[in-house]
Amino acid sequence: MTSAGTGTHCPYCALQCRMTLHHTGDGIAVRPGGRGGLCVKGWTSAALLDSPHRLTTPLLRVGGELCPVDWDTALDTVARRLVEIRAAHGPDGNAVFGGGGLTNEKAYLLGKFARVALGTSQVDYNGRFCMSSASAAARQAFGVDRGLPFPLSDLDGADAVLLAGANPAETMPPFLAHLKGAIDGGGLIVVDPRRTPTAELAALHLAPAPGTDLALALGILHAVVADGQLDEDYVAERTAGFAAAWRIAAAWWPERVERVTGVPAADQRRAARLLAGAGNAHVLTARGAEQHASGVATAGAWINLALALGLPGTAGSGWGCLTGQGNGQGGREHGQKADQLPGYRSITDPVARRHIAEVWGVPEGSLPGAGPSAYELLTALGTPGGPRGLLVFGSNPAVSAPHAGLVAERLAALDLLVVADVVLSETARLADVVLPVAQWAEEEGTLTNLEGRILLRAKAVEPPPGVRTDLGVLHGLAVRLGQPPERFPAAPEAVFAELRAASRGGPADYSGVTYARLRAGESLHWPVPSPAHPGTPRLFLDSFAHADGRARFAPVDHSGPAEPPDAEFPLYATTGRILAHYQSGAQTRRVPELAAAAGGMFVEVHPDTARRAGLTDGAVAVVESRRGRTRATVRYVPSLRPDVVFLPFHFAGDERANLLTNPALDPTSRMPEFKVCAVRLLGERA
Ligand code: SF4
Repeated sequence: MTSAGTGTHCPYCALQCRMTLHHTGDGIAVRPGGRGGLCVKGWTSAALLDSPHRLTTPLLRVGGELCPVDWDTALDTVARRLVEIRAAHGPDGNAVFGGGGLTNEKAYLLGKFARVALGTSQVDYNGRFCMSSASAAARQAFGVDRGLPFPLSDLDGADAVLLAGANPAETMPPFLAHLKGAIDGGGLIVVDPRRTPTAELAALHLAPAPGTDLALALGILHAVVADGQLDEDYVAERTAGFAAAWRIAAAWWPERVERVTGVPAADQRRAARLLAGAGNAHVLTARGAEQHASGVATAGAWINLALALGLPGTAGSGWGCLTGQGNGQGGREHGQKADQLPGYRSITDPVARRHIAEVWGVPEGSLPGAGPSAYELLTALGTPGGPRGLLVFGSNPAVSAPHAGLVAERLAALDLLVVADVVLSETARLADVVLPVAQWAEEEGTLTNLEGRILLRAKAVEPPPGVRTDLGVLHGLAVRLGQPPERFPAAPEAVFAELRAASRGGPADYSGVTYARLRAGESLHWPVPSPAHPGTPRLFLDSFAHADGRARFAPVDHSGPAEPPDAEFPLYATTGRILAHYQSGAQTRRVPELAAAAGGMFVEVHPDTARRAGLTDGAVAVVESRRGRTRATVRYVPSLRPDVVFLPFHFAGDERANLLTNPALDPTSRMPEFKVCAVRLLGERA
């Protein structure tokens, strides 16, 4: 690190804010390096580097206790037990679970490790819980999925922006700089059951009952058409399927939608007029719209609205999905997904299989087929016919998976659980072997941010003695499993060179991206099909990625939540993130400043609802669903709908929001319904 500091990127969300790290007398300090600055998570991220919670020695469970061992003992033990499980139960006896925070190189090598070194089809990752519904909807509508198919800077010129199920004022505050024009011009529309800090900035806040977003999108589409604002030329020239979509939306006039969602018909019509009257407009969705058993249809309904207004593939306007995890975009492109090969290729496509088998130097027939999705994989662990061994990289499913109590039981039932992590996460506590690995600023690697731009996150500090990189761990295990060492390189740039070749010709083509170009400061959005190609900041300007060049309307209808409230469980529970924490909290709960800002579980409740349950502000409540119960401190929130409670999902133990959540899966994306389940409120001693 030089005195001017070393440039790198934040370890957390998909905005991937630039920062520099500086040595000071007190340790390592963070300085913002880009537009919009940093949020409190970025400012405090250096605390992770010298955290007293840091793991620096492999741990092996002996006599029920996790005991320090050397690396050879740890890796030899893991390799031996993986081989034993494979001999007893076949290749699918072992499974792999990755994460959307892993670099592109790690996601790529992890998928290759599963398919080649283990020969298993049982590989998926926590991004299935985050972005898979919007991803599937985008592929259906446009033929390709890139979260924002335009650069972030396009939002600067937007007169109107509709945010459906996004709360960037807490999840990624620097992003708000891009919405300043829409906010100042009275063009921000926020769809959220809660009056969030983002909703406070909006000209129009629409608060539908949880699980009714799709009906609301149909109502606004209806208002657009009824008001004569359908972009008929665009629909005729650039799309297909409007008639079938309209046949459904025609039956969802705003007054009918008001009865289902609670959103006044006049507000639906106002939203339609704000969007239709804007020079440049965007419709953006995030987890609030997507984490439903009908998540693909719901994201499709918001895409329908954008298509009816003629926004996607138009300079200065569009539809996009706000990706959440740091490498949520790249993590879903390079092969750690159950149904996918690198370059965003399908594992069932014979051409893709041949190409990847050739790059990997293995027979095509040796590549397994598609495996189960994340929740299905996790709940099959240790069951008859299910996997008996699991390797976890960059994920904490004991906290972050839906129906977390059941998932923790399944993890505990394994013959072998191996967790590579930076700290002793809740999942690592259950492990047979824990492998301490390097983290963000301690190693080089690429990530693909929410606008599809590939970033090189530089190494800024040395990792502590005793840890290895994830790539080094995969290399060490692969060699012990009999693989040629050169097939699993441990150097990030070497892995990236192979990823480039593997992605060549695929939808997410990185073949023209090199570390040298990224080090030189080039801004490269995929696809980048050759070293001379400048990248593709805006997709779809000329045509969409379907063979006929047209975008598709989705014929989607409202179905409501999988588990609506009833007499026994009368409230909707919805979950989400708060400013001080990130995902399962494994990192941020260990940053003292963030733990002080938000140290424990709370539940937001309307005061009338709380009083009916006999709960005062600050009391400890039990929130119960059909799957479990969690403890939380009551917060009175008068702006909340009386039929809704909100719980953040960052806390552990008996404070896990995911002890409650409903694992009902979307039929296409297999994403669980994190955003709505039925609960009741009880006093602490209930
Ligand atoms: S907005 Fe996201 S990337 Fe930026 S500092 Fe905050 S957590 Fe880090």
